[in-house]
Amino acid sequence: MIQLKPYISTSCSCSCGGDLYFSEYLWQGLHVCEILVCNRCNKKRINSLPVNQSILEPYTFYPDSGVVNDAQGNIVPDNWYSKKLRSIVSPVQDDIEIEIDIIRKYDEVLILNTLDYIYGHSFLFLLNLQQIVKSGTSLGIVVIVQPMLKWLIPREDVAEIWTVNLEFKSFNNYYPDLSTKINSELVRFKKVELSKGHVIPTNENININKFTGIKPYDFLNEPAHPRITFIWREDPDRLWIRNIYLSKGFKKIGFGLLLIPFQYLRIIFIFKLLKNKLGMKYNYSVAGLGKFGRFPSFIKDGRAKYFTEEAEKMLCKVYAESALVIGVHGSGMLLPSAHAGMAISLMPSKRWANYAEDILFTEKDVRLASFQRRIVPLNMCIFDLIDIISDMISGRDYFLKKFIHSDEL
Ligand SMILES: [Zn+2]
Repeated sequence: MIQLKPYISTSCSCSCGGDLYFSEYLWQGLHVCEILVCNRCNKKRINSLPVNQSILEPYTFYPDSGVVNDAQGNIVPDNWYSKKLRSIVSPVQDDIEIEIDIIRKYDEVLILNTLDYIYGHSFLFLLNLQQIVKSGTSLGIVVIVQPMLKWLIPREDVAEIWTVNLEFKSFNNYYPDLSTKINSELVRFKKVELSKGHVIPTNENININKFTGIKPYDFLNEPAHPRITFIWREDPDRLWIRNIYLSKGFKKIGFGLLLIPFQYLRIIFIFKLLKNKLGMKYNYSVAGLGKFGRFPSFIKDGRAKYFTEEAEKMLCKVYAESALVIGVHGSGMLLPSAHAGMAISLMPSKRWANYAEDILFTEKDVRLASFQRRIVPLNMCIFDLIDIISDMISGRDYFLKKFIHSDEL
């Protein structure tokens, strides 16, 4: 964690030879920055504090020149991360609503900032809470969150929740009013620390029940008819379409949604073949976000049209009743993989650099984890995929017999 208050100053020089002095903190969203001002030329230097992505890529921004430097002093071109820092020079002067929910009063606090422009990032930042709570810190935990994630915060573990009423895409921008309001809250405390808020929160498995209140699938207490569930999305980037050039081309000309029927037909086809193979012991279902098409009666439609707290809880129940979930790589797989017995993530071409980021593991044994959480190419032939799914479902018991044994003598 990083101490914000009292501020720890370090001697720092400007290129003009003057000294840089701390002015204030700036809360952009995923960038939490310190603004330093030169006492000679008055120029500003904005350091993105080493939390979340800045642990991996620490950037410094010079608003007068518009230059972003990396840790080695090289100029950073526009990328998804530097763009957010550069947004500081084009502030949006809206009045931002923050709801301050004080559950327990503390003089010394640790802030976990989960603000981001992408749901999956924010959700992963929030999961840092598990290790913070486990550390037994004497600091009161303050979580800064957007409305959609608020329901996931275990209130019994935190001191305050600050809900910023902005949607995810808003955090492509910088709102000075938001920054001022967060800074004005810091006045209440004697000491303020900022959590590192790691991009991938912990190397320990996440106890998802603590966040959602829903116990994950239990192989020792299986339902009579476990589900096999496809995680539905309708955004053109994450459709189950084998040819990436087709989906990219359609998206480019604004016709990405025309491919949704192909995904719909593929799901019906795969479930028909799985039903022929595995029979009616299993409930075949679709969950996730969307509404396109009506499925045949043997496929249960558990999709939500909108995300509300109630809808999200219902979806998590569907995931937790699923022996296996399958879906296209992305943040939409985080809650399903955390709750389901097993998971398959279909990895689109050109996305392999994000390997395993969308899967939350539940297994302690690495071999069982490799069996139960699989990442396969999205463009895999559907018959190979059926082979993998049916073997995972019907071969798990034998795998346990073969690989997991307590008597080593
Ligand atoms: Zn200077």
